[in-house]
Amino acid sequence: MQQEIEWHTDRVTRTVYATDNSIYQLTPDRVGLPDDAAQIAASLRANFLLAEPKAIVARGGGTGTNGQSLTEATTVDLKRNMNRLVHVDVEAMTAVVQPGMVTAELNAELASHGLFWPPHTSTLNRATVGGMISTDAAGKGSLVYGRAHRHVERLVMLLDDGTEWIAEPVTEDEAERRANEPGRGGQLWRALLDMTIPEAANLGLPELARGFSGYGLDRLRVDGRVNPIALVCGAEGTLGILVEATISLSPIPELTRLVVASYDTFGDALEDAVVLRETGPIAIESFDETTLERGRSSPAWPALGAAIGDHHGAVLLLEYTGEAAEDVEGIMATIEATGRSIARREIEGAAEQSAIWKVRADAVGLLAKVSVGGPELSARPTAFVEDCAVPVAEMPSFIAGFRKTLDDAGLMYGMFGHADVGCVHVRPALDLTDPGQRELVAEVTQKVIDLVAKHGGLVWGEHGRGFRGAHIDQVLPPETVMLMRRVKSAFDPRDIFNPGKLYRPLDATSPLLDVDDPAMRGELDARVTLTVRREYDSAFACNGNGLCHHYSADEVMCPSYKATGDPALSPRGRVDLLRSWLSDKGGDPGFEDSLAANLHECLSCSACSGRCPVEVNVPELKSRFFDDYHTRNRRPLSHHLMSRFEEMAVFASRIPRLAGLGLKPAERLLGLADLPAPKGKRDTTLVKFTGQP
Ligand SMILES: Cc1cc2nc3c(=O)[nH]c(=O)nc-3n(C[C@H](O)[C@H](O)[C@H](O)COP(=O)(O)OP(=O)(O)OC[C@H]3O[C@@H](n4cnc5c(N)ncnc54)[C@H](O)[C@@H]3O)c2cc1C
Ligand code: SF4
Repeated sequence: MQQEIEWHTDRVTRTVYATDNSIYQLTPDRVGLPDDAAQIAASLRANFLLAEPKAIVARGGGTGTNGQSLTEATTVDLKRNMNRLVHVDVEAMTAVVQPGMVTAELNAELASHGLFWPPHTSTLNRATVGGMISTDAAGKGSLVYGRAHRHVERLVMLLDDGTEWIAEPVTEDEAERRANEPGRGGQLWRALLDMTIPEAANLGLPELARGFSGYGLDRLRVDGRVNPIALVCGAEGTLGILVEATISLSPIPELTRLVVASYDTFGDALEDAVVLRETGPIAIESFDETTLERGRSSPAWPALGAAIGDHHGAVLLLEYTGEAAEDVEGIMATIEATGRSIARREIEGAAEQSAIWKVRADAVGLLAKVSVGGPELSARPTAFVEDCAVPVAEMPSFIAGFRKTLDDAGLMYGMFGHADVGCVHVRPALDLTDPGQRELVAEVTQKVIDLVAKHGGLVWGEHGRGFRGAHIDQVLPPETVMLMRRVKSAFDPRDIFNPGKLYRPLDATSPLLDVDDPAMRGELDARVTLTVRREYDSAFACNGNGLCHHYSADEVMCPSYKATGDPALSPRGRVDLLRSWLSDKGGDPGFEDSLAANLHECLSCSACSGRCPVEVNVPELKSRFFDDYHTRNRRPLSHHLMSRFEEMAVFASRIPRLAGLGLKPAERLLGLADLPAPKGKRDTTLVKFTGQP
């Protein structure tokens, strides 16, 4: 019989899976790190046989901004062990990949063949293919490449009872044949075929440049084919667990031009973006005045600084490839002719271009660095209405209304985002340890939902819904919501997968979870006194954006995470553990000892404090922890000896021969060890490339 997943129920593991980049903190009962699909299938089968099965939530990179991968039940981490590239067919431009593979690692493997997987998030170096498919991710370049679903050919997924099921486009006849097969898989095809789906135009989905994410009913039956990929991409793990994906690849564009245009105001920049779409860019990204100021502290800033000089207003970044890139004079002339920009510059050189894009990718983290609010409040930019999307022409008036809403609420904020597709990122600064400020989350969300609806848009325009799905009745007609619930019932009638998000099954009576239902991180942090929070400030500043969770050898970041892939040994994991320890300091000696052991494995290299956008400083936090810990726990002999190291060295220099003989035993006594040799590049492939021309 196939082994089930081994479940981890210790406090350390559960704590480091309790956060993502959202305002929430939900500690799972148990965490599994499966090695393969068979283990997951066995565990799903066992769970399904229970009278009351547990909720199960898949997790990739954990970079969701609204609690997408958080649960108080079961977390299944796909990134840890199911993260390999299985096969690439260079000629057919397809790849088979495990869901936990990090997308930047995938693209690095593909680059030597001139190929890449086009969906692009700012989190590319730590988000996974499975997570990106499940959120139907899109980012820079979506004007041309669209959302993730356009680049998926076949998905292998596991259903609630562990049955393997293939989502792929098939003819109506083939779908009928599959629906006649016995078993759970056949039943599911039958349920999908039995649904009467109105014309796409009658579903009432918002008309957005990138379309609607989460059960793409409008794309399920098109041109005589049935394509369940449309439902599963963007399902946020509510329909099953993806265990393998066949994805379609694109050629890396040969010529890329980047133009930086400066504006007096963000409004001018957005007005210009509407017009400049006609110049054929693959991306138009924007910074408002506040975000641009924060950008100055990015390590990559010098490249953008050189392009805009002493400019302090707003900026657009316009990228062109292929034919559109050939006429750079024409592009510059058009930008100048609109009369809105005050300066324009083409950026030459791949290194400069990529540094400028790095400032854009760092924007979320850079905003979070600022804490405002005076002595009692420590408000920081917070994700909850951070990815609204409206039709592009509505963007300038929508942003004016959005700014007024936030100004009226007295909130500080910065804005940036994808001006080419009407999607703006906003993180209002809140101190969520304050109950009054926590109430603002629901209040502001409702106001923004009303505003977005007035402009024909969506409050979850890019990152998926997470805990923001409860307002679906305000967005879709009741008949469409019922159809979506039929989809959920067909795949997951017992509401096992990521319950409370997206849609409930038809016969469920409980509502979806709303933005202020789940426990907020700030609520839990409030158990720690303000004085202590200030002492451990950088632990409480971490917003979980996960920049420290990448394996890239080219970028400085936490070596203990890169070497192990264990989130507990990353800066984000360590500060989550410290925050948890501070909430009941000394109350759980076993946990305290585990934290001490964990922090002993930190090299105090300061890679985190130098590169983390909010400057999480683990070495400094570690010193504070041990200072406190050793008031209750005796220091080992090695610590006392180390504190006298200089004196011992002087003494040893007087008796060099004897000291030489005693070196090895002394190293052991002091607990010193040689660093292991670097492992080199991570092995990310299972099977080699085929189909080379
Ligand atoms: C700084 C920052 C910038 C961002 N920029 C963008 C952006 O430009 N564009 C964008 O689209 N998003 C963006 N995001 C949001 C986030 O990075 C994306 O949603 C990303 O696709 C999530 O990938 P992940 O691997 O981290 O998935 P997770 O966050 O771990 O999971 C996301 C969802 O997918 C489900 N899931 C994961 N793996 C599986 C699986 N194998 N089977 C079934 N379900 C699964 C989870 O249950 C969850 O519901 C950003 C986030 C941050 C913090
Ligand atoms: S100081 Fe510690 S936590 Fe920070 S990057 Fe180095 S090893 Fe990681």
